[in-house]
Amino acid sequence: MTDKQILCPWCMQIKIISEKGICSKCYNHLDSLEQKNWHNYQTSNYAELMALAIKIDTAFQFSEKSSDSESVLKQFHQSRIRCVLEMFKQLNNTTFKPITSEELEQYKHLIKEYSEQTRTDEELNQFSIVLRQKLSTNNPQLQNIYTTFFSFWCGEEILDWSYFQYFEIITGNLKFLIPIEKLIEIMQKHFPVISSNPIKQLN
Ligand SMILES: [Zn+2]
Repeated sequence: MTDKQILCPWCMQIKIISEKGICSKCYNHLDSLEQKNWHNYQTSNYAELMALAIKIDTAFQFSEKSSDSESVLKQFHQSRIRCVLEMFKQLNNTTFKPITSEELEQYKHLIKEYSEQTRTDEELNQFSIVLRQKLSTNNPQLQNIYTTFFSFWCGEEILDWSYFQYFEIITGNLKFLIPIEKLIEIMQKHFPVISSNPIKQLN
């Protein structure tokens, strides 16, 4: 247990211990199922990250309804991919042995270009299949990391999850190898405006 104090990331008004994720006032607005999920986040030391993931998700849903949604959603798409790409850059290249460092760099560069829409998903997909075939492991944690590494950059149209589920799955896999504080820092960096403002209220 740490006693790091932060401002509740949702209301941005009440000081809390970071492990709580959100203040009790914000917590009381959750329905019973969400409160149950919240307890799980707290016991797995995951609440601060999930508070941010839900905040990003809410902002995304809000943008979908706005009049200039197309350009805003394009920005979300790019930030999501770049954010997770930076998370993966924290991993040692040996995690993906026998893929070489050069191949990994090439793959990451293709992802960056895809996020900027200067590469098509076919080009990226073809290269990703070639690399994926080189990997094999019996370790379930590593299997999940590999699966995520070769799919996280997917387009919005085939993204099966909400943004908060997306970040929950990806960071849930990565937290075995990357400190949660680092993952939070990367999310804040890629979603600076959302991170520093109170959560948007959906009607
Ligand atoms: Zn609050």
